[in-house]
Amino acid sequence: MSAHSLGVEVACDGPAGLDDCPDSAAISAQFTSRTTQQVRADGRRDGWTVRRAPGRLLDVCPRCRTKEPTR
Ligand SMILES: [Zn+2]
Repeated sequence: MSAHSLGVEVACDGPAGLDDCPDSAAISAQFTSRTTQQVRADGRRDGWTVRRAPGRLLDVCPRCRTKEPTR
């Protein structure tokens, strides 16, 4: 029996924010991270970035970030 709370999971939205991430990457959040903001902070430590998109935020893993052609 597990009382462990999974909290939130932040997964990669892919290189363009439209495709699935080829790696199906998700941020490995710290045990103490329970909110999306905290998990994203964990991700930044691992090289994740957050992009603004209309109406939402896109989470991009380090691999997909390097595939981005713009910039
Ligand atoms: Zn990715």
